[in-house]
Amino acid sequence: MTLDFEKEKLIRELKKRKPKRVLVQLAEGIKKYAPEISGWIESLGIEVIFSGETCWGGCSIAVQEAEALGVDLIVHFGHAQFIESKFPVLYIEVKDFLDLKPLLNKSLKELNKFKTIGLSFSVQHQHDLKNIINFYEKHGKKVILSKKLGHVAYEGHIVGCQYSGLKAIQEQVGAFVIIGNQFHSMGACLAVEKPIVLIDVYNDKIRSMKGIREKILKQRAFSIEKLREAKNVGIIVEIKPGQRFGSPKILLEKFRSAGKNAVVITMNEITPEKLMNFYNIDAFVELACPRIALDDFAKYSKPILTYKEAMIALGEKTWKEALKTGFV
Ligand code: SF4
Repeated sequence: MTLDFEKEKLIRELKKRKPKRVLVQLAEGIKKYAPEISGWIESLGIEVIFSGETCWGGCSIAVQEAEALGVDLIVHFGHAQFIESKFPVLYIEVKDFLDLKPLLNKSLKELNKFKTIGLSFSVQHQHDLKNIINFYEKHGKKVILSKKLGHVAYEGHIVGCQYSGLKAIQEQVGAFVIIGNQFHSMGACLAVEKPIVLIDVYNDKIRSMKGIREKILKQRAFSIEKLREAKNVGIIVEIKPGQRFGSPKILLEKFRSAGKNAVVITMNEITPEKLMNFYNIDAFVELACPRIALDDFAKYSKPILTYKEAMIALGEKTWKEALKTGFV
């Protein structure tokens, strides 16, 4: 195993905070480590319960579960802090000590035309930053980290709904290198127009994202058109504290003034099955994670859009503006 669960930090923090009962949230890829982590926490005489709900980002803080279970602390593994929460949360970011050199070497072929590269990475590689920069500098590249803007925790850190940090440096770089997975690089494609090289760590591959932006933009334009034509519209809000992208009240008013029947629907997690029963709704706008609309649209039988896309359909924003500022 190349993962480091920051056991020392965990124990130190638990001894300091002295909770009697904790709720542990594990990012999706690390849920299998629950038995091991349970042992560490229980050895301190603390009762531990694992959340079986999905945990895709630092935005998913299980406050409702925690309150229902009467725990004193949430321990959230695998993401950096995303928002300030009134409920006490201990973030354990988890480091990956995988040797990235073979993949960095392979990436050079895709980068040979570019002297200056913009670099972004998912949080488990943050500890390796010096080595990554040294590697590229030794190969004659200048490295500029994406800016720490919005919900990201560090310079260079990337999350799937926040690309302002990449946009801020795009004029200075020839291409972007993203160390993470396709989720991160797909979002980046929509946000910036420079070539993107993905170091796909867990598939052990280098991917060029050429042509993906155009393909996604066509899908988005189609969904926006469908929302324009829709008579009945569902506005979906999730109850996760970090997933509130846009105001349901404003949207409701705007859709109604545009002559549409609009309703607000709440969900803990959006799934195609849950939407199926609202079969007379022609299109949905989701104000939860914007990536549900952008990445999962093929799973849904009705168009599903982000807040910004709804604003384009309503004529409040132009397509050109969205291309500039992004769709998330
Ligand atoms: S809102 Fe979506 S993209 Fe943003 S951190 Fe949460 S899961 Fe990731």
